[in-house]
Amino acid sequence: MSACPKCGYELAPLELECPRCRREETQKQVLSRLSPDLLGPGKSREQPPSRAELVAEGTTVGATYGALALILIMLVDRYVFHATVQQGPSLLALLCISAPAGVVLGALVGLAVSLRRAPVAGIVVGALLLAVLRGMGLGAPGNGDVGILTWVGGLVYGGIFGAAVATVVLNVLRQAR
Ligand SMILES: [Zn+2]
Repeated sequence: MSACPKCGYELAPLELECPRCRREETQKQVLSRLSPDLLGPGKSREQPPSRAELVAEGTTVGATYGALALILIMLVDRYVFHATVQQGPSLLALLCISAPAGVVLGALVGLAVSLRRAPVAGIVVGALLLAVLRGMGLGAPGNGDVGILTWVGGLVYGGIFGAAVATVVLNVLRQAR
């Protein structure tokens, strides 16, 4: 016959866990889950969201909108400005690269904008990142030649991308507050 080390309850021969302590533990968990509502309905909801929550939301919104924005920019670049270039990436390849790249770029722009609360932060981050990505060959028109124009193009597209994502993120954050 052994006893519970915490409360001294005498355990039955086959019991591994003290039933008294387990019941108390369960009650505590249920209470802690209910307590926000017990403290008063609507009380927690009226509080403004914390800085961390806003930054998280800005990053999420940036990632979502970033994917759309980068696909749009890449499509315009492909079909308007390089319409005569035959050996560019296929439409499918373009979408497969732009969507995940847009999610990552958008998340970073969203993060920068949420932290700095200024659209210029998003423009700078977007411009630099897209210039680097284009320098690495994203959406490069054929045979992988990466010249100064590719970098400048990346800066311009990235700036537009950053401004667009920053505008949306700031709007969402303003409404969330
Ligand atoms: Zn016990």
